[in-house]
Amino acid sequence: MNNQEKIEAINKWQSCNFVHPLTCGKDNCEEKLEPIENAITGEILLICPKCNYEQGEISIPSVVFHFNYEQFNKIEAWIDNISTQVDENTNRDNQ
Ligand SMILES: [Zn+2]
Repeated sequence: MNNQEKIEAINKWQSCNFVHPLTCGKDNCEEKLEPIENAITGEILLICPKCNYEQGEISIPSVVFHFNYEQFNKIEAWIDNISTQVDENTNRDNQ
């Protein structure tokens, strides 16, 4: 997996509704971290946009890179579809 793929995987993880995002580890900050590539070392860094705290690639759980996002997108679409049907049925029953 190259850095571009890693950054994409991290961004998907950070915007996935089914997992807890990677958050800043400094004190009680807990801001969502953003991935960047360290131009000198070539390592991925997670940066806190709020306090600039940095975490190295080693702090990223491997599941972030191996997560089946496609499967979860399908589940999310399926849940949306059910919610829409329930709303429609509720609207119909209320008429
Ligand atoms: Zn922070």
